[in-house]
Amino acid sequence: QGGSETKEFSAEVGRLLDLVVHALYSEREIFLRELVANAADATDRRRFEALTDGARALPEGAKIRINPDKDARLLTISDDGAGMSREELVSNLGTIARSGTRAFGQQLENAKPEDRPSLIGQFGVGFYAAFMVADKVEVVSRRAGAEVAWRWSSDGRGSYTIEPASRETAGTDITLHIKTDADEFLDPYRLQSIIRKWSDHIAWPVTIMQDGKEEAANEGTALWRKPRSEVTTEQLEEFYRHLTHNFDTPWETLHWRAEGTMEFSALLFIPSSRPFEFSEQTRESRIRLHVRRMFITDEAEILPSWLRFVQGVVDTEDLPLNVSREMLQATPVLARIRKAVTGKVLSSLKARLEDAQAYETFWDNFGPILKEGMWDDPTYRTEVAGLSRFRSSAVDGLTGLADYVNRMKPEQDAIYYVTGDNTDVLAASPQIEGFKARGIEVLLLSDAVDSFWPERLGTYEGKTLRNVAQGLNDLDKFAPDTETAAQKADMDTLLPALKAALENEITDVRATDRLVSSAMVLSAPEGGPDLQLRKLMQRSGQ
Ligand code: ADP
Ligand code: MG
Repeated sequence: QGGSETKEFSAEVGRLLDLVVHALYSEREIFLRELVANAADATDRRRFEALTDGARALPEGAKIRINPDKDARLLTISDDGAGMSREELVSNLGTIARSGTRAFGQQLENAKPEDRPSLIGQFGVGFYAAFMVADKVEVVSRRAGAEVAWRWSSDGRGSYTIEPASRETAGTDITLHIKTDADEFLDPYRLQSIIRKWSDHIAWPVTIMQDGKEEAANEGTALWRKPRSEVTTEQLEEFYRHLTHNFDTPWETLHWRAEGTMEFSALLFIPSSRPFEFSEQTRESRIRLHVRRMFITDEAEILPSWLRFVQGVVDTEDLPLNVSREMLQATPVLARIRKAVTGKVLSSLKARLEDAQAYETFWDNFGPILKEGMWDDPTYRTEVAGLSRFRSSAVDGLTGLADYVNRMKPEQDAIYYVTGDNTDVLAASPQIEGFKARGIEVLLLSDAVDSFWPERLGTYEGKTLRNVAQGLNDLDKFAPDTETAAQKADMDTLLPALKAALENEITDVRATDRLVSSAMVLSAPEGGPDLQLRKLMQRSGQ
């Protein structure tokens, strides 16, 4: 509880409001897209909450209503969604939870004007777009399951007020006091065309009040359920942008329907650039699960975490609409869908290997994530290895393990690799001199995950993966020992002397024929963590 209170925006919000209102002036219409998207999210949320709490059940015919009032110069967007408590109003609309304003500002400055609108959605700051067209914004909200309602209001200039209010049912009304230069947003036809353009695929009905009548504004088609032949590339791309908040075109689009033992439709995308803020922290796939069009959850982990760069929708007939979290965890239906969808993504990647240049784009964006599959997924380890690409001492550009094996010397039975921070440095590293001099190819691995997967993978096409920095003797079989008796005698005095001098720093000093022009090289002991892994462990304080 609590009474009326006026609070300052967090400093971040203040700056952000400035940015949004000024930088996006020419694209003001997107405020509606953002408010309708929030209303749809809130309605989805309530539907899901109701599965475990009947008191939050959605009313029959839940929808999103847009009501322009020309005379009063008010535009109201109402929903039957989950609503917000007092605390939620304060934390969701008074602070910025997710991302830094500074990063947003920089992106905004660098972006082409036509790309700017998508940045708003990408940064999770959509609500504030309302201040582009409104002098004042009022939010009246009642949390589903609660009796009380609250009014949040602000003129977007530093502070907002929160006070008790009333609302007959749960949900949210957002009322905009439209600016004098924004009349167009009080015109039902103009609003209609904005919804068509930006929000057509919102799955809940959107209506606009027009001459006292509610008119349907969106088609609400579940694009993914239409046959491929009835969907245009433009529609797919528009949906992709809506779904991902990216403004590129997809690198790959997978749209198919499974029929027979399993029934589902899927529409998946792989972006052609690494989305800004593609978060390393969220390790889970966010594929959206729908049941007969209805959004259920994006936490069903339909794809393994190492395919988390794939985005999209899977819609099935094989689950009940009221499927609960517990059921999602237990059902074999989901396990079958996971297998089918994962297989489809992998086979599409395999097909695209043929176009090396296009694949390189994909690999630069998402390769380090895909490679995690070799580390943590025994089922797909070998398949992921086949899809992986590497820099190498022997070829320009990227190469695969199968190609490496084809190039191996007859007497060679291992795939050699070296790990470090930078492939250019590795290419010139003394660690691989002896290999290069003997014409033996070495893979140059520089991603963090590269310290982990080779040991897990173990072998590829029967060839052991072997770190050049571990073990010293492999080169013997490629070149005879050319040491003279005199050199041997020198070594016999030098080695004990070095060993004594470095006693506390190292385990052993040995002669090696791995080097050609360098005098010495540091090696990790056989079987121990390799040098790069040791560095990583030291950095993380282990
Ligand atoms: P985002 O939608 O990306 O989280 P927004 O700035 O659009 O960022 O919205 C901020 C938050 O405010 C939302 O995450 C949600 O929690 C809350 N919110 C906004 N609009 C509504 C609404 N109509 N009903 C319930 N909650 C809402
Ligand atoms: Mg939003």
